[in-house]
Amino acid sequence: MSSDHSASTEPKKALNFIEQIVEEDIKNNKNNARVLTRFPPEPNGYLHIGHAKSICLNFGLAQQYGGQTNLRFDDTNPEKEDTEYVESIKEDVRWLGFNWQGEELYASDYFDKLYEFAEKLILEGKAYVCELTPEQMAEYKGVPTRPGKDSPTRNRSVEENLDLFRRMKAGEFKEGACVLRAKIDMASPNMHMRDPIIYRIKFAHHHRTGDKWCIYPNYDFAHGQSDYFEGITHSICTLEFEVHKPLYNWLVDCLRDTDYKPQQIEFARLNLSYTIMSKRRLLELVKNNFVDGWDDPRMPTISGLRRRGFTPASLRNFAEIIGVARRENVIEMGVLEYAVREDLNKHAKRVMAVLDPIKVVITNYPENQEEWLEAVNNPEDESAGTRQIPFSREIYIEREDFMENAPKKYFRLTVGAEVRLRYAYFITCTEVIKDAAGNITELRATYDPESKGGKSPDGRKVKGTIHWVSVPHAFNAEVRIYDRLFNDAEPDGHADVDFKTFINHNSLQVLSNCKLEPCLKDAGALEHFQFERLGYFTADSKYSKPGAPVFNRTVSLKDTWAKVQEKEA
Ligand code: ATP
Ligand code: MG
Repeated sequence: MSSDHSASTEPKKALNFIEQIVEEDIKNNKNNARVLTRFPPEPNGYLHIGHAKSICLNFGLAQQYGGQTNLRFDDTNPEKEDTEYVESIKEDVRWLGFNWQGEELYASDYFDKLYEFAEKLILEGKAYVCELTPEQMAEYKGVPTRPGKDSPTRNRSVEENLDLFRRMKAGEFKEGACVLRAKIDMASPNMHMRDPIIYRIKFAHHHRTGDKWCIYPNYDFAHGQSDYFEGITHSICTLEFEVHKPLYNWLVDCLRDTDYKPQQIEFARLNLSYTIMSKRRLLELVKNNFVDGWDDPRMPTISGLRRRGFTPASLRNFAEIIGVARRENVIEMGVLEYAVREDLNKHAKRVMAVLDPIKVVITNYPENQEEWLEAVNNPEDESAGTRQIPFSREIYIEREDFMENAPKKYFRLTVGAEVRLRYAYFITCTEVIKDAAGNITELRATYDPESKGGKSPDGRKVKGTIHWVSVPHAFNAEVRIYDRLFNDAEPDGHADVDFKTFINHNSLQVLSNCKLEPCLKDAGALEHFQFERLGYFTADSKYSKPGAPVFNRTVSLKDTWAKVQEKEA
């Protein structure tokens, strides 16, 4: 995309507040009118839908304004980080359709530079080694309304600080024995400015730097400086970092020697109803086997949504729909489902599948006869063409599409009533067969040979149309239906109750006796379909085998959830 978007003839949408800032900066030639954003995940878990919002925002802005985006791993917590996470994050960003500038970057690439900067701060009297315990440090920091108390070592000499810091680096002290703190302002109303810790001792193996370091910079010390080293212009983060901004600016100002300065901009994080959005908590679900891994189709992770059948376009559209704002809110899960329906509607091939089968014998259809009928692959897309589907004397229909004692307005199958079999014929139910216990085991019907293709031969009207598959041609498959992973709208929002209390233990329903149209047999992993009347389904990438696909329901056709809620309200 070009940077002269103002020349575009597309209808103009109102700019969001970040676009306004960027346009203003370009107009003022700030940072030479460059736009370089970054997406800075910590590789301590798989990305979730909240990260997708941040990715779309950062990469989207750069595309919009002719800039670039860096992918930088914020890997300053060695114990929690892993290369498995690095790989999954790269895959997810690419899958969403974005390319970062050059190679991926790591905060750990800057450990030497950061260390040098820490020494510079010490030399300038802006940092000191402190031996207070965490409890003492908290006590000395005090409360926002009253000035804190100076650490006893706050005014030790530059030489002593330098010596101690170098010995910290050399591994002479135990973990927790001392830290390096920035010397800023113990009376600041912003607690982050009360001499924040910038380096701590950790005898931890790092997934990239190995055992080279036993001191690690903390997030605040690494983040803004990494932005600076890379020449980032707009450093977009979630609102909770707003209180870190004075520290971000203080540190960058200590470091910079030109006009260039990265700008931190905060936006409201994505919260989604009926789920959680924290890698730490998602990890708990994985570790305790509440789900089938990070990519379980019920997980709000990008990999889980992919397995469930969400498409990159649907997630990008979702990000577009929800927009960016500075006020926290909770987005309804229905919005995400709307976004995927919108996309799959355009692309998914329509097929027929019966999830809870009951056999119907069409008594006036010749035995051993079969015929192939034409079906439309996608009414939304003529180029998708048509296919032939087999019909025979015995078919399966959905058990739910028959009712023995039907009310007047029931338009599906009941004894004596006529329905249309999609793409096939009109049939009239003639008889119900039951077992000794009174369960319906089979239905008998007759068909009208003149109604081929489901067209009325004489203008008579048939209200109901149901789907079906031919018994000898259908194949048996497993279909998985998902419900919300939590049965509370904000599982994370209860102060005294663990979020796991709200896990919905009936969120996975495995249907193993489903009868599918033969063309589905060769469905490839992650191939999308609409099972007529039932929803959008996607071949599972983990359990499908060649010739034996397993399907996940991505989403139902209509927003049944909203309806249920309406009814309950
Ligand atoms: P989590 O608590 O889920 O681990 P995090 O903020 O610690 O999230 P990071 O890996 O540090 O995760 O985040 C990478 C980027 O994604 C950051 O810029 C962060 O602001 C952004 N981000 C994380 N969660 C959300 C969210 N729910 N909505 C929007 N952006 C998010
Ligand atoms: Mg984090």
